[in-house]
Amino acid sequence: MDLKQHIRQVPDFPKPGILFYDISTLLAHPQAWQETVRQLVGAIGPEKPDILAGIESRGFLVAAPLALQLGLGFVMIRKQGKLPGATIPYTYDLEYGSDTIEMQEDAVKPGQRVVVLDDLLATGGTMRASVELLRKMGADVRGCACIIELAFLSGREKIDIPVHSLISFE
Ligand code: IMP
Repeated sequence: MDLKQHIRQVPDFPKPGILFYDISTLLAHPQAWQETVRQLVGAIGPEKPDILAGIESRGFLVAAPLALQLGLGFVMIRKQGKLPGATIPYTYDLEYGSDTIEMQEDAVKPGQRVVVLDDLLATGGTMRASVELLRKMGADVRGCACIIELAFLSGREKIDIPVHSLISFE
């Protein structure tokens, strides 16, 4: 099944001149979505991690069914201020300004093997920050996976562990 044809491209979103790659059409198609989860299981391979981490918010949609399928726990990486209780933050630079993500301090134990999931890899900044946050927490980050990679932005070059993507736009 060609998953690429299930991605909708929306011009001028969220700003004029930006082409947005929308997974809503993939999620709404049961066979395409099942095939996506099946391919993500294959991308993770036989050596299962201890835990999956999903990046807010569409990364949750990717990580949660995969965690169920693999029989693993799922933890959330969120924007600052969304998680209750004690959290560990990580601040990273953006083109203009900075952003902070965080996790609950007991979400991952030192040495646990983690794979990070998101819907899409663009410049790689979000994924790299997520890997660094997990490392700050002592996790052994084994790899990253996403549905879509915008290969023309070379995001994977920012990431020093294996990056798996199912659909690439060149
Ligand atoms: P990056 O940090 O530049 O790699 O951007 C990736 C993050 O922005 C991910 O969390 C994506 O969900 C989101 N993102 C950026 N561009 C798109 C897009 O075209 N479609 C869906 N999500 C996007």
